[in-house]
Amino acid sequence: MKYYAGVDLGGTNIVCGLLDEQFNLLDKVKRPTEAAKGADHVIGRIAEMIQELAAKRELPLEAIQSVGAGIPGLIDPIQGICRFAGNLNWRDLDVSARLSKLLNIPVFIDNDVRMYALGEAEKGAGQGYPVVFGITLGTGIAAALVENGRLYYGGRYIAGEFGHIIMEGETRTCGCGMVGCLETVASATGLAKQAREHIASGKETIMKTMVSSPDELTAAHISRAYDEGDQVAVDIMNHTGTLLGKGLSYAVTLLNPDVVVIGGGAANAGERIFAPMRKELQRLLLPMYWDHLEIKTAELLDDAGVIGSAVNAAKRAG
Ligand SMILES: [Zn+2]
Repeated sequence: MKYYAGVDLGGTNIVCGLLDEQFNLLDKVKRPTEAAKGADHVIGRIAEMIQELAAKRELPLEAIQSVGAGIPGLIDPIQGICRFAGNLNWRDLDVSARLSKLLNIPVFIDNDVRMYALGEAEKGAGQGYPVVFGITLGTGIAAALVENGRLYYGGRYIAGEFGHIIMEGETRTCGCGMVGCLETVASATGLAKQAREHIASGKETIMKTMVSSPDELTAAHISRAYDEGDQVAVDIMNHTGTLLGKGLSYAVTLLNPDVVVIGGGAANAGERIFAPMRKELQRLLLPMYWDHLEIKTAELLDDAGVIGSAVNAAKRAG
C-alpha cells in the first residue's frame, strides 16, 4: 500500500492530510501556522505533523511516497521555490528542499489555488469533466485550469490571477495597486466593502441593525439581508453576480472549460450571486460555449487543497 501526504499551508493554519493511493483522505491534522516565528518553524511544524500522521497509523515514514504542499503565493513548482508569499512573509525560499531534508521524502510545492482546482478536478465537483476551470471567491479571487488532469501554468507560472482583470466602470483600488479589479467587487472582501459603502452613502438597509459597526459586516450578513428582501443586499448580489458573469465570459471564451467550479467563502452566497452570473454569461457567451457549460460549487471544501497537493505530488514524483 502506498501513501501520500498533502499540505494546505495558509497564513493562519496548516492542514496536513494522509491519503491512500486512490487519494482518499484517511486522516488530517490542523495547527496554527505561526508564520511570525519564521520559515524554519513553519517548515519544521509541517514535518512534525506528517510524522504524527504516519505514527498514528503505525506507518514508517518511508511508506509515504511523496509530499505535496499548496502555498498562497508565487511559486516556482519546478525549482520548488516560493518566490513570494505575503501572508507568510516568504521570499525566494527553497521550501521543497528544506522540507524534503527533514522528512527524507520528495516534496513538491505549488500555488494553493492550483492545488484546490486539481483537488476538485480529481475528487470533487470537477470529477469526470475533461476541462475544469476552478475559481475561488475568498479574500481575493484566483483561478486555475486543469485539462485532463494537467495544470496550466503559463510562461512564468502566474497564469490564473483572475481577480485582477479590470472591470470597466469599477473604481475601487485593489490590493495590487490597480483600479477596478474584479476582486474589489466579487470577493468576500469586495462584497463586505460594497455593503459598507452603501451604508456610508446613507442607504436604508437592515444590515445596519445586524452589526454594531459596519466594519463587522461580512458576505454572510449580505446573504441574510437578501433573504429578508433587503433591497440594498439584493442590489449588491445582482451587481456582483453580473460582474462575475462578465469576467467569467472572457475566461470561458478563451479556455472553453466543461465545468466551472466555484469555491471560497463568497461562494456560500450560492444562487444569490450565481443566478445573475448565469444570466450575464448566457447574454455574453456564444451558444457554442454556453450550451454545454456546467457551473458547480466546490464539493471538497477545506479538503480540496490537501487532496490536490497529494495528487500533484504523486503525479510529479511519477
Ligand atoms: Zn488587482
